[in-house]
Amino acid sequence: MTKAFGFAATDASAPLAPFSFDRREPREKDVDIDILFCGVCHSDLHTARGEWGNTLYPSVPGHEIVGRVSRVGSGVSKFKVDDLVGVGCMVDSCRHCASCKEGLEQYCESGFTGTYNGHLFGGTENTYGGYSDRIVVDESFVLKIPAGLDPAAAAPLLCAGITTYSPMRRWRVSPGQNVGVVGLGGLGHMAIQIAKAMGAHVTLFTTSPGKLDDAKKLGAERVVISKDAEAMAKEFATFDFIINTVAAPHDLDPYLNALKRDGVMCLVGAPASPHPAPGVFNLILKRRQLVGSLIGGVDETQEMLDFCAKYGIATQIEMIPMQKINEAYERMLKSDVKYRFVIDMKSLKDSR
Ligand code: NAP
Ligand code: ZN
Ligand code: ZN
Repeated sequence: MTKAFGFAATDASAPLAPFSFDRREPREKDVDIDILFCGVCHSDLHTARGEWGNTLYPSVPGHEIVGRVSRVGSGVSKFKVDDLVGVGCMVDSCRHCASCKEGLEQYCESGFTGTYNGHLFGGTENTYGGYSDRIVVDESFVLKIPAGLDPAAAAPLLCAGITTYSPMRRWRVSPGQNVGVVGLGGLGHMAIQIAKAMGAHVTLFTTSPGKLDDAKKLGAERVVISKDAEAMAKEFATFDFIINTVAAPHDLDPYLNALKRDGVMCLVGAPASPHPAPGVFNLILKRRQLVGSLIGGVDETQEMLDFCAKYGIATQIEMIPMQKINEAYERMLKSDVKYRFVIDMKSLKDSR
């Protein structure tokens, strides 16, 4: 075992605080990574506070990791010391089920191993995430950060980027389509840019009128205030695809109503309690589809990173020291983040 240091929640109501723990000694196929930056995803908050009811404590969140390789095992072929690399939401999967074979490790039939809050394969040991100084990961779950991307701004792509890119590929967002993005937070600000790069006309649905200018700068042509029932009703049968990133339960019907015949709304937001059940007639009268999607596979994550580098897609970040994480969570709950907090891991030294 080797020593690691980070911030952890010890129970659902405890603030995150300094925490020393062990990481495994790198095995043959392992890459040891010195973490430079880690994005702050709303899922980190849901997990640290036990909102999904499945948290293993102590919990070290963080699955938007960018760092430099410090050591490699003898059998590692994809990476060498000093490479700039990323780790997203998964660090392992069974690798032989139908989903894994199709490159859909996130749907591994035995359950993938989460970067945090996941049992290591073949064991019961908890995994600890990126709010820490280093991580040891099998090379099959490590991504290359393309040269054109800023390392800190690349971190949120590892979850927010892939979670929005994957469904847009799956449901074939294409030039000229009307795409709606619900919620302008970490996921939403990626969704706007990716849909625009895919050639779609993008509309943001937001509860925050103050985000209008930012949405336009990110590439949205239109902004609809979702609390305005009249404005929502005018969107009837307009959209080919809507991606819903909202982290709280809400009425889905105004959005379903805004889909064209055969239109698709994909839920990626994962609130702690359910949305009210949608009206059946909104679905059946126009053969609309309500679907969900979970992050993306490893190869698809690399494809997304390369896509963002090619199209110059960047995340907008607010850099914070590790010590500000509890404050950052409170601000995230008030939708007061533009548009992703990223932790500068150098700051950890001040808590040792
Ligand atoms: P975030 O930065 O907090 O953004 C969520 C946005 O939702 C807010 O900025 C706000 O946008 C809107 N919103 C929040 N509360 C609302 C409410 N009560 N009613 C209506 N709108 C509300 O969160 P995030 O990191 O983007 O994550 C969003 C959700 O996706 C979380 O539940 C997270 O766990 C989940 N997630 C899922 C996956 C997956 O694989 N499916 C992956 C990552 C994250 P406006 O101010 O514009 O209204
Ligand atoms: Zn996430
Ligand atoms: Zn599998």
